[in-house]
This record gives sequence, structure tokens and C-alpha cells, in this order.
Amino acid sequence: MITGAILIGRDEAQTQAGYAAINPATGATLEPRFTTAGLAEVERACALADAASIAFAEAEPETRAVFLETIADEIVGIGEPLIERAMAETGLPRARLEGERGRTTGQLRLFAQVLREGSWAGLTIDPALPERAPLPRPDLRVRKVALGPVVVFGASNFPLAFSVAGGDTASAFAAGCPVIVKGHSAHPGTGELVARAIQRAVALCHLPEGVFSYLPASREAGTALVADHRVKAVGFTGSRPGGMALMRTAAARPEPIPVYAEMSSINPVVLFPAALAARAEALGAAFVGSLTMGAGQFCTNPGLVIAIDGPDLDTFLASASAAMGGSVAQDMLTPGIHSAYVEGVSALAGHGAVTTLARGVEPTGPYQAQGALFRTTAADFLADPALGAEVFGSSSLVITVSDMAEALKVIAALEGQLTATLILDAEDEPEVAKLLPVLERKVGRILVNGWPTGVEVCHAMVHGGPFPSTSDGRTTSVGASAIERFLRPVCYQNMPSALLPEGLRDGNPWNAPRRIDGVLKLG
Ligand code: NAP
Repeated sequence: MITGAILIGRDEAQTQAGYAAINPATGATLEPRFTTAGLAEVERACALADAASIAFAEAEPETRAVFLETIADEIVGIGEPLIERAMAETGLPRARLEGERGRTTGQLRLFAQVLREGSWAGLTIDPALPERAPLPRPDLRVRKVALGPVVVFGASNFPLAFSVAGGDTASAFAAGCPVIVKGHSAHPGTGELVARAIQRAVALCHLPEGVFSYLPASREAGTALVADHRVKAVGFTGSRPGGMALMRTAAARPEPIPVYAEMSSINPVVLFPAALAARAEALGAAFVGSLTMGAGQFCTNPGLVIAIDGPDLDTFLASASAAMGGSVAQDMLTPGIHSAYVEGVSALAGHGAVTTLARGVEPTGPYQAQGALFRTTAADFLADPALGAEVFGSSSLVITVSDMAEALKVIAALEGQLTATLILDAEDEPEVAKLLPVLERKVGRILVNGWPTGVEVCHAMVHGGPFPSTSDGRTTSVGASAIERFLRPVCYQNMPSALLPEGLRDGNPWNAPRRIDGVLKLG
């Protein structure tokens, strides 16, 4: 089933150049060799996506809902070969990948529900007021329309849930945007299996072939996709330099377009005094459990801990250090991610103001992460912004503060983050209240007495945050609201009924929620 092909619409192509996937657990190369898309394939995919754009955007919401469900069914239908290939290409364990497959199909089905519920379209009607003085009001009606073709850069760390049929693709499809996926070279076989599932779903649902293409492309071709005038938005998850490069390309176009890039976040955890006094030992072990899960390769990994220095913190650190000392080395996703991790940990270990508290068990595989726990003071952290850089993997830095006022200074100095975690008891609430206004301006999700890894896919989720955690903190890349990134409003003034889009006609043919004269009416 895996041939190494590029999928463009209903066709597949092979080029001469090729690369092989690597099994990060062994360092061995995997068959077959994969084709790399070039500029000719970019041109063809963009032309097809452009041709499909209006028909797909104007398809009944039910058509797109069925399409999303068909993709989910086709992914499930691949069965064991998908899990086995993903395990071989990523080094991730079976249970994680089976769970991730469930999340992937779950979010496709969630967007089907979103389409059927209808409020995504933002249908709003202000009926004409011909008698209004001094001027009559025209009839005004608004709906949201799809932006047009979207390019998605699959993430390395979620080979299913944030890759070919992941959250960016699902939300763009739901909005009515054709998608061209720039596949990630870390899991090309997994990517091809899922891309073929989408290709089958396009055919089964009788949609225009340009609704989907899959280009395992070179960087040059990936950049060309972002620069192409027919592409109207970009979804990206990866490194800060990668996201920034694509943002620059998008901004330099004659017609600039939005890039929704999720880049780097160190996800501060604040340990409040009463909670620390009550359960320091248990907290230390639980924190390391979150930090080392999946070799720490999560965008919400807790890379920074802030707490008041003293005996309770000592207990926490002793417990966390013991847990870290016993944590086994785990395979990282790619040689590149592994070397970036080793470099980041070496920089912290060699920093004059940083103490190494604990390291995990020595690695035995070629690309395994050895966990790392470090400590510094607030003054030293504030003196060197480099200490706030993301080290992608199971590494975390504990910052000791003299009081919660100093904790506030550390938080105020942080860059934008996806999450902040507050470990608190009832007695801590007055101190927490002082921090909240600052935190709300730094992060997208504030969670209490839990750990940031593990992101629920639902209506109320925000997986976004101020720069550099994302390029646009007004949006989310996980959950139902992610659809909004790929829509824009169009207003119709005094449009004859027969020419109005169906959802805006009198009688509410879509039976969708609509705001009429300022009052929300359910369908
Ligand atoms: P990456 O290097 O940013 O690559 C992501 C995707 O963007 C790949 O398809 C890559 O193509 C492409 N790309 C990167 N730089 C580009 C450029 N200058 N122009 C055009 N395309 C470009 O990310 P990664 O390989 O997934 O992981 C590397 C590092 O990213 C990690 O060590 C970690 O620091 C960070 N990361 C962060 C998160 C997070 O959620 N915070 C998640 C994953 C990774 P190629 O495959 O051709 O390079």
C-alpha cells in the first residue's frame, strides 16, 4: 500500500529523487524510497485546488460532514498497517499511536458535528427598516465563507493527529477549503497511508479531485506552496525558525496571507505555597511523569517550574530528582529533533547560573532522550533571556523565587505560551488572583491542579497563545473553534432573495442558528 508516491488530486506521481524513512529506535532505513515533490507538482496541486475551491466551499454543510466522517472511516479501515508503520517511523509506542488515531478520527467527527450544528457559518440578519428616520436601514445579511486553498505543514510529533488528516486539515476541510498537505519527512509512509485514505474519501463523496493533494515536498517546494497566489492560508506546527520562515514568505507575497503557525512554548508551572506545603513529594513525582511522557515531545510539555525557595521546594525537588533519575531514556522522533535536544540540554548544563539537579537513565538507542532537570534563580533567569528558549524534549528548568511578587516578575518576563499550570490549594487563591491578569495576557490555556500534556479536543479548548507559541494568538489549532481560522465574513446588502446564499434566505432552509436583529434564534 505504500509506494512512495506523491498524490495530486486523483493521480499519483513518482519523481527520480528519493529519500527513505528512518526507524529512530534502531537507526535503520525503512523501505520504500519516497519521492520528493518539486515545483511542477506544486503547480499542478495548486491549479487543482483552485479549480475545486468554489464548488467545495459552496457544497452543502452535510456533504462536507459526510466527507469528514468518510475520511475517519477510511483511516480506521487501514487497520494494523497504519499503527505498525507509524511505530516504525516514529519510535512511539502502540498505545500512544492507537490513542492518537482515536483522537484523529474523533476530531474529524467533531467537525462533522460542528457543520451540522451550523453556528460556524455566523449567519446574521438585520432586516431592512424602511421607515427608520432620519435614514432607512437596508437589509443586511452576513455569512462566513471559506478562504480558499490551504497548505498544511504536518507536525513531526503527532504523526496522525497533527499531520496529514490532523486538526489543521480537518478544520480547513470543515470550513470548505481544499487542502494541500506538505508531508513531514519524519513519517512519510504513515503520511502516504493517511493521504490515500483522504484520496479515497474524496472519490467516495464525489468531490472535485483538487479538494486534496499530498506533497512530500522539498523545502523549496514547501516554500513555493506558501508563495503560490492560489493558496489563501497556511497551517504549520514545528520549529520557531521554520514557522518564521514561512511567515516571512507569506508576508512578502503581493497578496499576503495568514500563517497559523504553532512554534515554541515552555508552559510554565507555578507551585503555590500552600499546595507545595501540603503535597510536595507527590507533586514532584507527578510533574516528572508529565515531563517525560512521550520523551517530552509535546508542545505543552512543562519546561519551566516557578516556586518559592525553601524546605517545601526541597522536598518537591528531591522527589522530582528521584523520579527523573529513574526515568528511562526514550526514542526521539528524528535524528534532528534528538540533536536539537542534546544541544539544548548541553547549553543549560554548561550555563554558569544553572545547576543540574538530575538526569534520567543513560540512553541505549541512537536517538534516545535522557531526561534532564535543572535549577536557577529568578535573578539569573531574568538576566538571560536565552534561559527561556524551548528545549523540545524531557528537559525542565526550576526557577526559585523569594516570594510570589518575584514569581510575578518572572511570569511578566516570559514570552507568549500555550499553557500555564497553577498548582494551588484554597489558601493560595488570593495570590493566584494577583497573577491571573498577567497570565491571561501571556497564555492561551490556564489549568489548575493538573498537568499541561494532554489536550482535550472539544468546543471550549484553546490551543494557541501569544507569539511565539503561535503566530496569531487570536485563534486555536485544536478544538471546534479552529474552523474560524479558515473563514471570513461576507455581507449582502439588499440582495434579492433568489440570489442569497441558502443559509441566509427567509425561512431558514438550513435550520441553523441565526442572529436576527441582534437576537440569537436557534434553528
Ligand atoms: P521543523 O524543522 O520546523 O519542520 C516542520 C516542517 O516545516 C517540515 O515539513 C519542514 O520541512 C518545514 N520547514 C522547516 N523549515 C522550513 C523553511 N525554512 N522553509 C520551508 N519549510 C520549512 O520542525 P520539526 O522537524 O518537526 O522539528 C524540529 C524542531 O521543531 C524540534 O526540535 C522542536 O524544537 C520544534 N517542534 C516544536 C513543536 C511544538 O509543538 N512546539 C512541535 C514539533 C517540533 P523539512 O521536513 O523539509 O525540513
